[in-house]
Amino acid sequence: MSRFMPELLAPAGSLDKLIVAVLYGADAVYLGGQKFGLRQAAENFTREELKEGVDFAHQHNSKVFVVLNSYFHQKDFDSLKDFLLYIESIKVDAVIVSDPGVIQFISEHTNLEIHLSTQASCLNVRAAKLWKSLGVTRVVLGREASIEDAARIKKEAGLEVEMFVHGSMCMAYSGHCVISNYTQGRDSNRGGCAHSCRFEYSLSKDSADKGKDKEDLEKRKHSFFMSSKDLEGIRVLDKFIESEIDSLKVEGRMKSHLYAGTISKVYREALDYYEENGHFLSDNMSNWESELRKITHRAYTEASLISPADDSSIYDEREHEDGLYTSIGSIREVSKSHGFMLLEVKSYFHPGEILEVLPFKGVPFEIEVTFVKSVSDKNLEKTKPGTLVKIPYYEGVERFNLVRRRNLQ
Ligand code: SF4
Repeated sequence: MSRFMPELLAPAGSLDKLIVAVLYGADAVYLGGQKFGLRQAAENFTREELKEGVDFAHQHNSKVFVVLNSYFHQKDFDSLKDFLLYIESIKVDAVIVSDPGVIQFISEHTNLEIHLSTQASCLNVRAAKLWKSLGVTRVVLGREASIEDAARIKKEAGLEVEMFVHGSMCMAYSGHCVISNYTQGRDSNRGGCAHSCRFEYSLSKDSADKGKDKEDLEKRKHSFFMSSKDLEGIRVLDKFIESEIDSLKVEGRMKSHLYAGTISKVYREALDYYEENGHFLSDNMSNWESELRKITHRAYTEASLISPADDSSIYDEREHEDGLYTSIGSIREVSKSHGFMLLEVKSYFHPGEILEVLPFKGVPFEIEVTFVKSVSDKNLEKTKPGTLVKIPYYEGVERFNLVRRRNLQ
């Protein structure tokens, strides 16, 4: 019996990260072009990279969605048609949009499939039906919707639903926030969010006096009370599947290659396990959770997936929890006959170190770097980020595998 399984949708902040996400198991990736998206600081794709990315994803049976989810000012429409016709010509699978004017424009000028961005904060059946009548085929629900809400919207509005399963949260109704405009002159609704909600703020005595629990507010006089923990939905993955949520989205276009690879691998393995067995075992759940703790993250929360988020979702601590591992780089070439692998370096390492390879499938394994050489075969004592170096060949390592190092505790 074939089982309904959701699509795993991963972030692709660059062409390299797209390749990583696809090879580690994403069914689809979302990315931004040079304009119209909400991640000004992501590397974003040139037209040539877009084509290369779409071709690569399609060769590996993955889809590519392009985000056009900023709220448009009138002048933004000047170059929109040309861009839309281009992405349609290279066979992008869908666009992710929030502005109703842009949705109408896309329907008038192209046959592109339209997904409603989470920025539009769709949370109910009536809103979903309205968006459907405008040509939307899928809604990316606001993070405030529960899995139960999503299942009802899908059934009663008759369109696909996509939900966030992992990643950073926004304390506002996804992005409808202007703190960054005031504090940094950057517009969250045009890709400029400066994560102002993560900063430390102080409560004035006046506001504390008005609070219900004065003692608690006093304790939080200087605090990060607007900063949210990160979403982690692995423990309720069975509920997403049983509720037939069409797509599970991972946040994080600006996060690292190691993040893109680890999250794609963990959720892929979990989904595949369920597809084959129809349930999860607590042992494999613990292993997946432990892998998700190896990447840099804030404390995790299930936020509103089951019941509305409350103050247990506030990340009232100063620093990110350190990832247990550092990204060392990615393998660019494997030469068994010459006994070396070419590694693109992300962080410094030395000859003699024990590193860990994250395979596309299966358990991570250690390798000892007995030598490090330049591409012209000069022995190196240490490495520089951004360079290519040769390290010893190991059986089982593949091109684009990620290499990491366990941090000393
Ligand atoms: S500053 Fe925080 S609340 Fe505002 S848009 Fe950015 S992430 Fe959301």
